[in-house]
Amino acid sequence: MMNFNVMNPYPFIYHFRDPQGVCFSIIKGESKAIVVDCGYGIFNIRELVESYIDTPYIVICTHGHMDHSSGAYLFDEVYIPRLDEQLYIKHNGIEKRTKNIESAKKLGLIDETYNCTEYINKKLANYKLIDNGTILDLGNMHVEIIGMEGHTKGSIGLLIHEHKLLFTGDAAISMIWMFLEESTDKKTYINMLKRVMKLDFTHFITGHLMTVFEKEIFNHYLEVAEESKPENSIPVTFQNFERPNTYQYAKKFGDLNIGICYQEPKE
Ligand SMILES: [Zn+2]
Repeated sequence: MMNFNVMNPYPFIYHFRDPQGVCFSIIKGESKAIVVDCGYGIFNIRELVESYIDTPYIVICTHGHMDHSSGAYLFDEVYIPRLDEQLYIKHNGIEKRTKNIESAKKLGLIDETYNCTEYINKKLANYKLIDNGTILDLGNMHVEIIGMEGHTKGSIGLLIHEHKLLFTGDAAISMIWMFLEESTDKKTYINMLKRVMKLDFTHFITGHLMTVFEKEIFNHYLEVAEESKPENSIPVTFQNFERPNTYQYAKKFGDLNIGICYQEPKE
């Protein structure tokens, strides 16, 4: 098994980052656990997470993107946000899985002994759809599914009420990608941030960084989203995610570089 970074910022939270730069987490309740996201599935993270869990558990993906959901096949069943169902299916297909393998090879994470064909042809995992507002009882804590549309239409957060801790996946993150076909317009994202900021949480954890952020950072996300326009932004393009009219706007807030990548006009 490849080396995964892990942090344990609360007694009941394990947060991992894989060598391809995506995170997944465990919320450990007294009678039940939740695995938040399941990575690319290049490596068997089921064995890893099960070594930390001693109760039944469920797996919930924060959105349909391949870096958060391609590991779903490792598990008996996963929950996918209702509005990301088609995205999940697309991102677990042969085309995306082939790109996942290419990127793992480029990073030197796999060699010729790795069974690429098997990975690429994995069947879609059993999945159920999950709705915003669902509350899951883990025995000693309750986790609510929060709609966080923007990055993708179905993106969700997971809010642990008793600990005022929110998992945001890619929906509220330091460099948000809003230029994708599956992203909403910027206004919808801004309205989501304003709505979520009213919720009762103090800290949050994102889908790509090993940091527990304070809620106040949401103000910066809002600020860069509201200020960004082609006149103050730079054109950007990302390999495998090429889209026309894509811009990046970023600002420093202390040590943090916070920005938004968006498309204008939005297609
Ligand atoms: Zn994403």
